[in-house]
Amino acid sequence: MSLKFYNTLSREKEDFVPINADEVRMYSCGPTVYNYPHIGNYRAYIFADVLKRVLTYNGLKVNHIMNLTDIDDKTIRESQKQGKTLKEFTEFYSEEFFKDTLSLNILKPSKFTKATDYIESMVKIIEKLLNNGMAYKSPDGSVYYDIKKFPSYGKLSHLVIEDQKENASGRIKTDEYDKENVQDFALWKSWGAEDGEVFWETSLGKGRPGWHIECSAMSMDNLGQQLDIHTGGVDNIFPHHENEIAQSEGATGKEFVKYWMHNEWVLVDQKKMAKSANNFYTLRDVIDRDIDPIAYRFWLLMASYRTRINFVWDALEGAQTALKRLYKHYNDFGQEIGKVSLQYQETFKNYLSDDLDTPRALALIWDLVKDENVSAQDKKATMLDFDQVLGLGFDKLKIENEKVEIIPTEVQKLVDERELARIAKHFKKSDDLRDEIKNLGYQVKDQPTGPEIIKM
Ligand SMILES: [Zn+2]
Repeated sequence: MSLKFYNTLSREKEDFVPINADEVRMYSCGPTVYNYPHIGNYRAYIFADVLKRVLTYNGLKVNHIMNLTDIDDKTIRESQKQGKTLKEFTEFYSEEFFKDTLSLNILKPSKFTKATDYIESMVKIIEKLLNNGMAYKSPDGSVYYDIKKFPSYGKLSHLVIEDQKENASGRIKTDEYDKENVQDFALWKSWGAEDGEVFWETSLGKGRPGWHIECSAMSMDNLGQQLDIHTGGVDNIFPHHENEIAQSEGATGKEFVKYWMHNEWVLVDQKKMAKSANNFYTLRDVIDRDIDPIAYRFWLLMASYRTRINFVWDALEGAQTALKRLYKHYNDFGQEIGKVSLQYQETFKNYLSDDLDTPRALALIWDLVKDENVSAQDKKATMLDFDQVLGLGFDKLKIENEKVEIIPTEVQKLVDERELARIAKHFKKSDDLRDEIKNLGYQVKDQPTGPEIIKM
């Protein structure tokens, strides 16, 4: 069976063939750690998670890298506002991000990379681009990419080259801009007073990297010069991913990424959910309404990652009700776990192989639940099998006295937090969290498969 994914580069669904059959090399643009991401942001990470799970489910080994942008215009500006060092500021939001991904059942990538750990690699790429004439130094010492030197500039976002050349007469130093401002962009930003303590002394001079070069360096350092899949939200197509292509291909002369995959927006009142529009919700808002973050994941999977979806609380509450019904069915099927139905499994695989058709995959679960020709224990096994991709947490359900109990989110969060502390060997913190969990009436037992939660 072949996997088919929609490639933004060709604007078509293509058969997926990895460059190296032994390992799929996948890179996902991660968060800029300068505040709590809103739930619209999390669509990108849930989409990448499902994609990775589908690849794994199909027997492929995946090397998945996700970055944390801990240096850019926004992190500098916000850390200064709070009077904190860049490091302490970004570390706080990185931790918050890790906690959120746990509660959304997003699997950890093979590696999280922090941009500030890769300054040297960025400088090397920029030097290469200066040496081969693709980049130039401006009078203030900043280095810019000369987009006219890269004839295929615009191939991802499908910008019309003619327009672009006419407009491309200037330079842009900010990290984010739109298509109206197609210009030479900053690879290296020379130090200015507004940067304060944030700078590196390098062969390029005193300064800091532009945002776009960060992902070129982190992806190629970890995955090589050619990647199979690069993911991100549609907002990243221009300028971020367009610039990544120009930088990477300009430096190596090789095709940077084979399959570019992008998820669509989450809307509120038909407008994109965004910090700037002040129409956003965070996972904290979801939890405050007594909705489990997993219900948000479930709600997202009801739509294709390539369609825009409109967020309303009623819909999310409806998703939570539906998910609880699924949990109840799973519980009612008894304790025994039988065999996976191969027929259902094949259909499930077929749906997901068609550009991750999660809506049909979810509808199939309901067919399975109602199917009188499949035994209860086989249904249970099949649901668990599907959950390797869907990540709805059937294996985490706590069932007591015939009653389905989903561990309260707050408890689950503390347990996840404690697990992070335990892994990091912060034993004092881990013990304190255990006490806190106890106060809420739950006990944690560390099992080889992960923490087990028991109601006291
Ligand atoms: Zn990126």
